[in-house]
Order: sequence, then C-alpha cells, then structure tokens
Amino acid sequence: MPTVADLARQAGVIGAGGAGFPTHIKLASAVNTVIVNGAECEPLMCGDLHLMETRAGDIVATLRKIVDEISGRTGSEVKGVIGVKQKYDHAVKSFRDQAGKHGVSVLELDNVYPAGDEHYLVFEATGRAVPEGGIPLDVGVVVINVGTMVNIAEAVNGKPVTERIVTLGGAMDNPKVAFIPVGTAFGEIIPRLGVKIDDYVILVNGPMMGRVTEDMNEVVTKTTGGLFVLPKDHSHVMRMARPLSTEIRIGKSACEVCRYCTDFCPRYLLGHRLEPHKIMRVINYDRDLDSDTITSAWLCCECGLCDLWACPMFLSPRVIYREFKRRMREAGIKNPHRRADLTQDSYRPFRGVPADKLMRRLGLSEYDVKAPFDPAPWPVSSVRIPLNQHIGATALPVVKQGEKVTKGQLIGEIPEGKLGARYHASISGVVTAISTSHIGISGQVK
Ligand code: SF4
Ligand code: SF4
Repeated sequence: MPTVADLARQAGVIGAGGAGFPTHIKLASAVNTVIVNGAECEPLMCGDLHLMETRAGDIVATLRKIVDEISGRTGSEVKGVIGVKQKYDHAVKSFRDQAGKHGVSVLELDNVYPAGDEHYLVFEATGRAVPEGGIPLDVGVVVINVGTMVNIAEAVNGKPVTERIVTLGGAMDNPKVAFIPVGTAFGEIIPRLGVKIDDYVILVNGPMMGRVTEDMNEVVTKTTGGLFVLPKDHSHVMRMARPLSTEIRIGKSACEVCRYCTDFCPRYLLGHRLEPHKIMRVINYDRDLDSDTITSAWLCCECGLCDLWACPMFLSPRVIYREFKRRMREAGIKNPHRRADLTQDSYRPFRGVPADKLMRRLGLSEYDVKAPFDPAPWPVSSVRIPLNQHIGATALPVVKQGEKVTKGQLIGEIPEGKLGARYHASISGVVTAISTSHIGISGQVK
C-alpha cells in the first residue's frame, strides 16, 4: 500500500508556502513533531485562511495520517501541532473541534510578523531553536504549510496538484480568492478583475517577502500565493524597486548605527549571530570587515523586518545581505555558521511586530480586505507550466508536442535518482510547446 509520502510524490506536491521543497522528502523523514503552519503572516494574503475555514477537517485528518505514518516507521511517538493565529477565531474553533478527535493539538499564535517563519514557529511550538544555517529537521521537526496539507489530502484521494489558491487583491474592483490553474499567465488574470488604475505593477506573494513585476507573461506556479495590483508610484513599490547602488549611497549618508535593525531581527532574537547593523558598518565605514560579519549574510531569511519595519532611516540591510549572498554563491563560499547552542535574546517575546501596525507602516491598509472566495473554475485558454517550480532538479517532459492531454495527466517526471517534483497538465488540451524549462498547453475555454 502506498504511503502518504508516495502519494504526495506521485501528485507533485511541493511546499506551497515557501520555496517549493518537495513534500514527499519531508514526509519520509524521521521526526518527532509535525507542525502545520497556519500563521499566514505575510500581509494581504488570505488564501490559507480560506482553506483553514473550509478544510479544517481534511487538514487535521491528514495530519493524523502523517503522524501515524512517521510514528509507525520510526517506532517513536510523534506529535501533531497546528499553529494558527488567535485572530482567525473561526479557523481556531474549527481546528479545536477536530483536533481532540484526532489527538493533535492547536497552538494559538499572536497576530505578529513573522509568526509564519519556520524558525519562529518551531520555537513557539517546541521551545527548540533551529541551529544557524539549519532547517526544522535538525531539531526533529517538519513544518508543513496549510495549502500543502490540503494538497496532500487531495493526493491521498489520487488528485494531483493542478491548481493553486491565490489571493487576488490591491487596487481592483473585485478582489477575490480563487483557484487558478498552474501555468496561467498574469495577463489572463489581472485584467479580468477590474483594475482601478492605469499605471500599476503586480506585487507577487505579499509585501514583505514578495517581489514586484510588470511582466504579464509570468505565470502562476504552485508557490504563487497572491497577486496584488499596486500603483507604480506607491511608496512601497518605489522602495522595493530601489537599486542596490542607491541603497549603498543612502546607507553611507544616513545609517545612524542605532542597531534597531538588529534588535528586531527575528533570527538574531533566536540566538543566531546575525547583526544587520554591522553589515551596514561594513559598507558605510569599512568597519567590522571580519569574515564572520560578511558570511553571516547566509543566516538572513530576508523577512524584511530590518528594512520595512525597524530602520528609522528606511535603509535595507536585507538588500546588502542579498548582494553578499549572491557574490558568495558566485565565489563558491558556503555558509560556515552552524552554531546549535543558542541563547535567545531576553526581549524576544516582546519584539513580534503587530500585523496591523506593519500594514500601516507599509501604507497598504486600504488593501487589507478579506477577499471573498470565488468557487467558479477559472477559465483559461492556455497555460505554460514551468518544470522547475520546486527546489531540486528540473522535471523531464514525458509528453510530446502535438499530443492531446487531459487535466491531471502526468507531463513532467522527476529525473532518476534526483531530488525533484512531478508536474501534471492543469487544463485539458494539446501540447503546443516543450522546452527544457516548461510545457505549453492550449485548450478550450469553457
Ligand atoms: S536600523 Fe537603520 S539606521 Fe539603524 S543601524 Fe540599522 S540600518 Fe542603520
Ligand atoms: S531581513 Fe533583516 S530582519 Fe530579516 S532575517 Fe534578514 S537581517 Fe534579520
């Protein structure tokens, strides 16, 4: 009988809330705690909230299956925990109603950013601090996002991942939450939502860790959680678009070395040796030029709190760290920081950033609406499905140009012996393009 991990692999399930790590690998690991991440802490997003309010029973039952499977394999007790923000009272109640029956627990989280950060959540749920440069597995934990859990539940029923729940919001007449076929171009989505402004950009995946684009040919992937229309001249958009050279120039003249960026850094607060004010001293005064300060860039998760919340001068240590990471990657310099014996900062419990205040700081409160769910299937005439939406080796096409495919049919396979994920047709139609990076399908709009 196939395991849940086998079924997730067959269905092409990858982490829906982050970088797209293949879920079957997580499910096949030996851990003693499985945490469902229902924090949805990125501002403006509400797709996970919809799933929690409508699929709590499936999420809890699937968690139980996963816990039983890992426990059966390891011969040890495994705990199941659902982390959900206290403010999502309806979801909390639904989970509590189900959790008792299935022997898992519910952890209510404060409405702070970054409650959904894996390191943050693991510490809140277990009191264990993930080591520097580590992952939850290092402390016996796997964290699975709510959207991923729903995809696992579907995989258990034999349904592959072909669509993605997406929050569609910002300056539009009809913000909504909808399931969109994987591979749908932004140009097939945004114009249908009644955009209120002419000169706009699309914010992909939220204001803190997302990015902006104007490319309407970009497509929805298994990790696309939100698309938000924002005015091109919005202060947050302009901030995100600021080039590195400007960051450095402003940083040189404006950094007060006040160290607020460090005091609010969630990884520093957990005990990691990451002190963003020092990287500013490196670029500003050529001070602290020791290799540890530079290589600590590997410890930055790019949560954005230092620049978008803490810094009184609107400077961005995050962008500087990102550049250092890029250069170290090019130079083949790996992360040397692996400390596991961590001491948390005593102010940590008081340094979570209230989500509503963060929204005001970003100037995005007017777009903070709980978008209604639209259950209608999304009509789409063609899709372009990238074969590398996950961490690992690019999938190999298993269909031919001109071949007819039906929705749910396997089109991309994991290369033999590699870490990877499978892909399935998200619409029925004809294969119109195949390359090493994607498969195009044209179908009928119904
Ligand atoms: S918070 Fe801003 S001004 Fe203060 S040290 Fe950090 S980058 Fe410099
Ligand atoms: S983005 Fe800033 S606050 Fe977040 S982990 Fe990196 S240095 Fe710390």
